Amino acid sequence: MNKKVFSKKIIAWYEENKRSLPWRQTRDPYKIWLSEVILQQTRIAQGLPYYLSFVKTFPTVKSLAIAPEDKVLRLWQGLGYYSRARNLHACAKKIDKEYSGKFPASFEELKKLPGIGDYTAAAIASIAFQIPVAVVDGNVFRVLSRIFGIEEEISSNKGKAVFMAKANSLIPADRPDVFNQAVMEFGALHCTPQNPGCLSCVFAKDCVANIHEIQNLLPVKIPKQKIKKRYLNYLVIQQKGKLLMRKRGPGDIWNGLYDFPLIETKKAVRSSEIWKHKKEIKLTIDSTAGRYKHLLSHQHLIVQFVLATIPIVPLKALIKRENLSFYSKKEIEKLPKPIVINRFLRESEFLK
Ligand code: SF4
Repeated sequence: MNKKVFSKKIIAWYEENKRSLPWRQTRDPYKIWLSEVILQQTRIAQGLPYYLSFVKTFPTVKSLAIAPEDKVLRLWQGLGYYSRARNLHACAKKIDKEYSGKFPASFEELKKLPGIGDYTAAAIASIAFQIPVAVVDGNVFRVLSRIFGIEEEISSNKGKAVFMAKANSLIPADRPDVFNQAVMEFGALHCTPQNPGCLSCVFAKDCVANIHEIQNLLPVKIPKQKIKKRYLNYLVIQQKGKLLMRKRGPGDIWNGLYDFPLIETKKAVRSSEIWKHKKEIKLTIDSTAGRYKHLLSHQHLIVQFVLATIPIVPLKALIKRENLSFYSKKEIEKLPKPIVINRFLRESEFLK
């Protein structure tokens, strides 16, 4: 199938079937960038309220650039992959300082910004600035691999290059914005991972996957990374209605978010036995306050919250060592927190 036929068919399909979404009504690079970053690894139904609250709270790149990091992370809370939020903030700062608050109208310049890779740069360049550069995301891999029978493994460098080259060979110079959105939307709604709509598909006669009935074999992916199990035992320590918390540092999940003093164990432990894993803090467990399972992309967390008391001297040492502070309910409400901590605080009615 030649380039013209492909783009004509997919754009016609898009015009008829596209969903009406707020970021499709604008050419503002700031809003397009926000939507692309928020929607990476996030479903539209989940990402939409976040997009709306970011646009409302930070209507310009400058307002986002000058916001405190805690406020940005708090607004992001629940979306996961928090490095995206930190990059979002760093990128806004850079655009504000080094580009006078304006996104550069160039694919190569966009890629120099924090958190902006090929995909996001191509989306901004094509949708906001009409530059004919193709976006390649999971949907595009699927659509192109099936229609054109491309068998390169999608996460390898070679595979990425093959798909990029194919997508760039198809993109029409006059409508790069619509074309890119059309391929992604077609993958999201019609050529879906399971049960693609082949019977009613505009590409049915030419699609290699359909002709050979190999839809379930394309795109070619390496098996997923093994999921690691972790056992997190959180100590909930109260003082005059305040809770002891700390800001997490880099090198692990949830960098920049707030949680409680933590004792991580290699296997599940009874709450009454947690003290054995950190004898130096002279811990007394008063009761178990909650147990949760929480799934991250590569980690399966088994999280236990226990109400605990610690005598004053070891408590002071712990506070100093782990950079802890007591926070009031009002303060905790504003802190960015992992979703499992937030859930515990609400279900235990510490936060309403
Ligand atoms: S025929 Fe099926 S596999 Fe091929 S593009 Fe259409 S929906 Fe996808």
